[in-house]
Amino acid sequence: MSDAMMPAQRLWTGDYYNEGAGHADPFDTLREECGVFGVFGHAEAASLSYYGLHALQHRGEESAGICTTDGADFNYHRSMGLVKEVFDRDKLTSLRGDRSIGHVRYSTSGDSKLTNAQPLIFKYRDGDLAVATNGNIVNAPKIRRQLEQSGSIFQTTSDTEVIAHLIARSPKDFVEAAKDALGQLVGGFAFLLLTNDKLIAASDPNGLRPLVMGRLGDAYLFSSETCAFEVVGAETLREIQPGEMLVLDRDGLREERYAEPARKALCAMEYIYFARPDSDMNGSNLHASRKRMGQVMAQESFVDADVVTGVPDSSISAAIGYAEQTGIPYELGLIKNKYTGRTFIQPSQELREQGVKMKLSAVRRVVEGKRVVMIDDSIVRGTTSRRIVNLLREAGATEVHVRITSPPFKNPCFYGIDTPDRGELIASYKTVEEICREIHADSLEFLSPQGLIQAVGGENAKDYKGGLCMACFDNDYPTRTDFDGEEKFGCTC
Ligand code: SF4
Repeated sequence: MSDAMMPAQRLWTGDYYNEGAGHADPFDTLREECGVFGVFGHAEAASLSYYGLHALQHRGEESAGICTTDGADFNYHRSMGLVKEVFDRDKLTSLRGDRSIGHVRYSTSGDSKLTNAQPLIFKYRDGDLAVATNGNIVNAPKIRRQLEQSGSIFQTTSDTEVIAHLIARSPKDFVEAAKDALGQLVGGFAFLLLTNDKLIAASDPNGLRPLVMGRLGDAYLFSSETCAFEVVGAETLREIQPGEMLVLDRDGLREERYAEPARKALCAMEYIYFARPDSDMNGSNLHASRKRMGQVMAQESFVDADVVTGVPDSSISAAIGYAEQTGIPYELGLIKNKYTGRTFIQPSQELREQGVKMKLSAVRRVVEGKRVVMIDDSIVRGTTSRRIVNLLREAGATEVHVRITSPPFKNPCFYGIDTPDRGELIASYKTVEEICREIHADSLEFLSPQGLIQAVGGENAKDYKGGLCMACFDNDYPTRTDFDGEEKFGCTC
């Protein structure tokens, strides 16, 4: 029976209306917070930043900004919206100079204000300062309170501003002041700082958030992900090391350090979900890493089935890996509508009852009458997983076996990922069997922590936990997280 002939009641179970199903569901998703891109020494700095930020758009869709300088004046533009909406030719032309820093941002809920759009721009005693960051400073509330008590006036609600105040209050020169300021911060962060004559790139002592350096001719580039270098034709040089601070000025590049490297702990969710599959991290391509996750998952949790499908887009690579390992054919059982964007129009009750599927659809001819293995990257609250399982069942799948390429997500993130409270994370209060029933799956398995390390760690797997932060799975946070009871979740930027 064709879809058109299906009676409405067959299309609607009351449980899979999927406005937001897939990974755009604001109520059941993990969100990367920000992406940064920097240029030093290229006449087209603003345009390069534009293309770089466009490639990093998946890391933040709410605001975008670029600040440039020619060594004298600062020029900047920031606004709410996508990169292509925020900038046009005239705006880019007005951003003169051969050095720049740029930023794309998600806001934490209720905090979607232009004043917090980055780069943040300040005047201080030695000139201008622009700051762009990705991540979260766990002790920012404490530092901010101390600064306010001693007279500082903050312009934004973004805790990123604390670094500007710490630098401005230091009697030392800019580089030493930046070292001192960075040394006071606890958390996961990648900073780009721009003054009239310097660009500084710095990573937190655990290397929690990604930051890479590239080269284009004589220019140095910095990016949250290598995919942005590919877009502008730049060569990737290396990752910024934990606790490292690179300084660029007219004397060239200086490699400095503001803190001793602590335990290497790059965010495991970058590998699993956030970063683009065409990016490399720690020497590994993300698509290849995700394929290995699927392969290891198949070794750990084989189930006999007719087709393997992945939840688009982030789980396609892992699904291909699972299929290759098991010999079960990979099929496009789920399709994401890429053109929905944000919608503010709620469907009528009538349309709801017809089961309007705006963002994700099951491919009936692929899954009907089939036993399906559905690969996904994570389960947060469980509502999205249930909707997708129901989509597959309504399209005729006879069995739906869910395989998740991460361990159960039980703990909130302190390092720049917007996660629900612990009590809303389904894995924190239900067993795997209970979650399986909750999402209406025939079986459910998660990738083991060791399997994850094996899949992404490669030759670095000998490092503690493969050099990964896995705190949201195992509660083993690489930094202090409690400062006088002022825990700071989510994102600073
Ligand atoms: S707690 Fe989880 S999401 Fe946060 S940095 Fe660590 S691995 Fe990434």
